[in-house]
Amino acid sequence: MQKNTRNLTYCIKTYGCQMNENDSEKMAGILKNLGYQEEIDENKAGLVILNTCSVRENADQRVLGIIGSYKTVKKNNPDLILAVCGCMMQQPEIVASIKSKYPQVDLIFGTHNIHRLPEFLNNFSLNGNRMIEVWEDSDTIIEDLPVQHKYPFKAFVTIMNGCNNFCTYCIVPYTRGREVSRRPEKIIEEVQALADSGCLEITLLGQNVNSYGNDLEETVTFAALLKDLSQVEGIERIRFMTSHPKDLTDEVIETIAKYDKICNYIHLPIQSGSSRILKKMNRKYSREDVINRVEKIRELIPGVSITTDIIVGFPGETDQDHQDTLDLIKTCRFDSAFTFMYSIRTGTPAATMADQIPDAIKHQRLNECLEILRDLSHECNALYQNQIVKVLAEETSKNNPNRLSGRTETGKLVNFSAGQEAIGQIVHVKITTAKSFSLDGEMIEGD
Ligand code: SF4
Repeated sequence: MQKNTRNLTYCIKTYGCQMNENDSEKMAGILKNLGYQEEIDENKAGLVILNTCSVRENADQRVLGIIGSYKTVKKNNPDLILAVCGCMMQQPEIVASIKSKYPQVDLIFGTHNIHRLPEFLNNFSLNGNRMIEVWEDSDTIIEDLPVQHKYPFKAFVTIMNGCNNFCTYCIVPYTRGREVSRRPEKIIEEVQALADSGCLEITLLGQNVNSYGNDLEETVTFAALLKDLSQVEGIERIRFMTSHPKDLTDEVIETIAKYDKICNYIHLPIQSGSSRILKKMNRKYSREDVINRVEKIRELIPGVSITTDIIVGFPGETDQDHQDTLDLIKTCRFDSAFTFMYSIRTGTPAATMADQIPDAIKHQRLNECLEILRDLSHECNALYQNQIVKVLAEETSKNNPNRLSGRTETGKLVNFSAGQEAIGQIVHVKITTAKSFSLDGEMIEGD
């Protein structure tokens, strides 16, 4: 049976983190090499790929609902190939459920074998049989996959896969496997190629970039990698995420301070301000350790922006633990934070812990965090008032088609007046208004 040989168009829907976005860019690159074109309308595409995320359990339910809706899409477009991949597929019970309840899904694969996409498509077009292939883990990273980056001027570069930390609330170590670092020369090669193509900004990705290189035979630290990458001509900005507080060494902080291209911006997810809860989360640092790291960062990198992640309502979190979190947020003076209410993730140790916190209390604690963070963000942003900052102009502003938006090296969102031709350039902007979550400004000159 020959299926779908003519409609060589694809639509990839990506859920979750930047690692998933980067995987989707690789799948797009693979598909372009196979002669596919992007089609943003899923009803017209010949291939739809849902790249799923498993971090939150209700996200699983939402994606299953979306997969369900493809029953109708497929009725209208019977030649559509529906593929589902990503972290959700690393859970056998999810795959079993899709297998039995969602006949509209044609291809199922996981996070470790996206490079096999051409074979999956080829086999399916030859025999029309549903194909399921999920690898439990992988100790290698497939190199030299083509990548279709979303923007020409900025790109994600994955430097490692997996995580060894097993925070008790997190499913990632089960879905992405153990840490595997890419060889530094392959990363430098990729970044050099990006620079040659005109890319100005790279974001290095890993679940815990600070432990980069620990699994490689020769000693390569994350700091050493940063130093090497800052020598790549053409690259103007280097960002990275995520930085686990327990592994953020003085050497990394000193490297950020020393090399201009490494952005003065650190995302340092503390999760809680209570040492007792941090222990239950298996984070392997205390609130004192966080204070120590933040003091060191601020001492060595003046003007740095530090953001964080907070989970409120972790099992057993008392009022005092919550107060400790609020207090630590104020002490560290974070520029902003992603805040989450703890939600049960089946398959993780925290899911079966006693003393789950009622939703009403979680909501209240979340609001208290948000209130403090909003004031802090405003205070941090106010420091930019009347300053001239360099902004990478990224796109037309969402709220005003006559303005552009972009980011400072410290990660601040800036909306400013400038012509479309500035998109993709680093330009000087004078900040005229500092708001809580963004800055407004006027472009004063190109760079
Ligand atoms: S460090 Fe913790 S939260 Fe981050 S991916 Fe690993 S287990 Fe999950």
